[in-house]
Amino acid sequence: MALSLDKYLRMSKLPHIWCPGCGHGIVTQAIVRAIDELGLDTDKTVVVSGIGCSARAPGYLHFDTLHTTHGRAIAFATGIKMAKPELNVIIITGDGDAAAIGGNHLIHAARRNLDLTVICFDNNIYGMTSGQYSPLTPQGSYATTSPYGMLEKPFDLCNLVMGAGGTFAARSTTYHARQLTNVIKEAISHKGFAFVDALSQCPTYFGRRNKLRTPLDMMNWFKDRSVPLRAWSKMSPEEQEGKFPVGVLTKTQAPELTEVYAQLVEKLQQRGED
Ligand code: SF4
Ligand code: MG
Repeated sequence: MALSLDKYLRMSKLPHIWCPGCGHGIVTQAIVRAIDELGLDTDKTVVVSGIGCSARAPGYLHFDTLHTTHGRAIAFATGIKMAKPELNVIIITGDGDAAAIGGNHLIHAARRNLDLTVICFDNNIYGMTSGQYSPLTPQGSYATTSPYGMLEKPFDLCNLVMGAGGTFAARSTTYHARQLTNVIKEAISHKGFAFVDALSQCPTYFGRRNKLRTPLDMMNWFKDRSVPLRAWSKMSPEEQEGKFPVGVLTKTQAPELTEVYAQLVEKLQQRGED
């Protein structure tokens, strides 16, 4: 279905700064489609970002938006949600922004089960600062700062969020654009901390260094390595090596922070305490 561009995009801010073939436009579109299909009130939806190529997305979106400091989007979003729990608060972050400098904010928001939706534009690299490796760069792949191949093991951010207490975690890719929209819809609808690992191609820095020269090569790389959840659960650890599951990985219910906070305030007011 055609989207109303004027409703969702700040046309005066276009054209965007992303490179030709960058996956970030596909993820941004999936977010806008999810918001549109859910029928969210644009005046009650806030989009917050940190720093990086992904962080430019809110600038193009016609909501109340906040472009904050590196790694701190979740901290700003926490303040917004605690002050105005009725708002839909969506965080757009990158793999460097979320997992490195912002890693602490991510795990603590998950632990609190605060009702935020975090969408990580995961391109396996620091794109904006010219291709340094991030905590999500796959082992053995090349980056400006790993010219002989990445030695370190990457985080699995969905597992990290689940281990920290997050109640919703999902993964999809720009190749799976319809699935990506659907998991973002589920994440936004979920009451509690929701995280989506959205794999997005950076042909300029990741692809070029890793023999995936075109955006299509990168999207095929996502296609070849991704496995639907049902098939994933039947695979041996050896078969899972080098691949990743896509879909909703966890969805549970637990007390949500703004609700338990409101209950406490009410209880104290009944006791006559300020
Ligand atoms: Fe996209 Fe990479 Fe270009 Fe950044 S550097 S806009 S992530 S292709
Ligand atoms: Mg990145």
